[in-house]
Amino acid sequence: MKTFLVDQNGYYGEFGGAYIPEILHKCVEDLRNMYLEVMQSESFKKEYEQLLRDYVGRPSPLYLAKRLSRKYGCKIYLKREDLNHTGSHKINNTVGQILLARRMGKKRIIAETGAGQHGVATATVCALMDMECIVYMGKTDIERQHINVEKMKMLGATVIPVTSGNMTLKDATNEAIRDWCCHPSDTFYIIGSVVGPHPYPDMVSKLQAVISEEIKKQLLEQEGRENPDYLIACVGGGSNAAGTIYHYIDDMRTQIVLAEAGGKGVETGLTAATIKLGQTGIIHGARTYVIQNEDGQIEEPYSISAGLDYPGIGPIHANLAAQKRATVLPVNDDEAIEAAYELTKLEGIIPALESAHAIGALSKMEFKPTDVVVLTVSGRGDKDINTYLRQGAAAKFPCGHPTYDCQA
Ligand SMILES: *Cc1c(COP(=O)(O)O)cnc(C)c1O
Repeated sequence: MKTFLVDQNGYYGEFGGAYIPEILHKCVEDLRNMYLEVMQSESFKKEYEQLLRDYVGRPSPLYLAKRLSRKYGCKIYLKREDLNHTGSHKINNTVGQILLARRMGKKRIIAETGAGQHGVATATVCALMDMECIVYMGKTDIERQHINVEKMKMLGATVIPVTSGNMTLKDATNEAIRDWCCHPSDTFYIIGSVVGPHPYPDMVSKLQAVISEEIKKQLLEQEGRENPDYLIACVGGGSNAAGTIYHYIDDMRTQIVLAEAGGKGVETGLTAATIKLGQTGIIHGARTYVIQNEDGQIEEPYSISAGLDYPGIGPIHANLAAQKRATVLPVNDDEAIEAAYELTKLEGIIPALESAHAIGALSKMEFKPTDVVVLTVSGRGDKDINTYLRQGAAAKFPCGHPTYDCQA
């Protein structure tokens, strides 16, 4: 049977693989040889499930959003990853990877981070497991994401500023890979999304797959069927989306909709719409769509949301888009801001800016009244409040006055 999951060689169609320097070959090969066996072992499953329940707070609720449903004329359920410990889905992955690192006898954890969310999720599990934690972060991002930097430090991590390139996520990732090359035997690299060389995209997908495993059970209980008509999630690298769709990926009864960051607009050059614009290339060890110029140089992506501005995309999603299994909708900055205000007003849920892109996809779709939609709210909006206040005020009150409508 045709599957959209990974094949024996680490590919999703023509995407994926492991394009790595010679020095990392053994590391990646060791991981590839061990990850399935470890993840399928009873001892791993027991510890992982226990931590997901008692530490992360799973299962996360599947909530029927009545007022949002009424607005869009269908039945919309929200998968509440925003309620997890540390505020997003990222902890599902870091809990799993640190258990794997310990079983492989690694002593030192490294990670890359852009907005700081993955850095915080990694520093959190390192504190939990008493392991050394080094987080690479672009200097520009360190300045933009002060609170997350302080959280990582409080959790005991060393945050190393990266000053190469544009000093953002792509550069931090390069630096983490360089570190890994220098310490291949004692270091485990915890990657934050379904990106990087095989087996990372598959390993992270499997660790996030708990999201769709729960959706199946919860939807059956609430709706009498396991399958929604639509699954909607935002994509940066694509891990919350991979988790949301994992157990439905080969089931054509469910349509998959991926919301990527349009930034100021796909045609403006200020965008992170990798699938719409990207061409096939190699980034961070995988063959996938990449935003690049004519010389194959990676272009700096832009999005108002720091969690979505990665210039690549997980190979699993590149293949879903190429095979037309998924519909990809770019959602621009202003549309995401509006969607965040809408969810807040209708349901009393302030979403992360990333998640607001998934909400923003709703107004670009057409639904039948009988349609059942499951949309993943990947994280909470606490970290984005300043952006919401600034952008929301600018949109509604052009004169900057918050208390009366200065347009009237
Ligand atoms: C990091 C992040 C994302 C983007 O990462 P994916 O791997 O695409 O899921 C989305 N939402 C939130 C809240 C995040 O922190």
